[in-house]
Amino acid sequence: MKIFQERPKCIGCGSCAAVCPDGYEMGEDGLATLKGGEVDETGNVTLEVNEVGCHHEAAEVCPVQIISIQE
Ligand code: SF4
Repeated sequence: MKIFQERPKCIGCGSCAAVCPDGYEMGEDGLATLKGGEVDETGNVTLEVNEVGCHHEAAEVCPVQIISIQE
């Protein structure tokens, strides 16, 4: 499955990094970065995972709902 983050729409609240520090870190630009993901030309980030893990919590807490899990 894939984790998808519409990074350009991130408002930098830090919630994803708080509930899922293994999956997200706050970048120098103030936006969250999906760790280990591939960034496309639009700035969106995709990460292939075997287990959803705490990405589920991150997707739930994101106030602008830009983290999604694609089965
Ligand atoms: S929870 Fe959403 S808006 Fe907040 S830092 Fe993470 S990706 Fe950005």
